Amino acid sequence: MRLLITHEEIVDICKRLGFEITQNYKGKTPLVVCVLKGACPFHSELIKHIDLDLEVDYIQVSSYLGTESTGVINFKKDLEFDIAGRDIIIVEDIVDSGLTLSKLKLELQKRKPSSLKFVSLLDKPSKRKVEFKPDYVGKTIDDLFVIGFGLDLDEKYRNLKDIYVFNQD
Ligand code: 5GP
Repeated sequence: MRLLITHEEIVDICKRLGFEITQNYKGKTPLVVCVLKGACPFHSELIKHIDLDLEVDYIQVSSYLGTESTGVINFKKDLEFDIAGRDIIIVEDIVDSGLTLSKLKLELQKRKPSSLKFVSLLDKPSKRKVEFKPDYVGKTIDDLFVIGFGLDLDEKYRNLKDIYVFNQD
């Protein structure tokens, strides 16, 4: 495992994104949605730096088998709130092929939110299979498989406070 992003850098990223979101949603009450499970630590840190009367919700969608995306969206846990007419910010850990969030976007748009934006801690644009551009990105990375700070490999390593590149050695 090779250290890629320190916890301190992650907190700095959250401060920057939190400030941008605070500026962009002044006077609004966004619903800040965590995509379980991987985005949990990022969502928790990010909302500390958003100075708004926000609300939170949680959603769990498709699975990821080993290191290959299935590309199939499956709602394991749906939102608690009705999002019609609301400002929705979806918080994800990483965008890879773009399949998960592009499909989630299509599904959630059917519920007629007032606005729907996406924040991702990490982005791997070189891996896209479908066009998808998050509205806010913490850090763009190369085509690497990363673990830690919520990101898993078969459910392990989510508890690491930093982010590492996973390799077999
Ligand atoms: P996509 O649908 O964009 O291909 O994949 C999104 C999901 O795949 C992410 O939410 C994450 O769960 C998983 N994923 C993609 N790349 C990585 C990676 O480098 N490391 C880990 N741990 N998960 C990844």
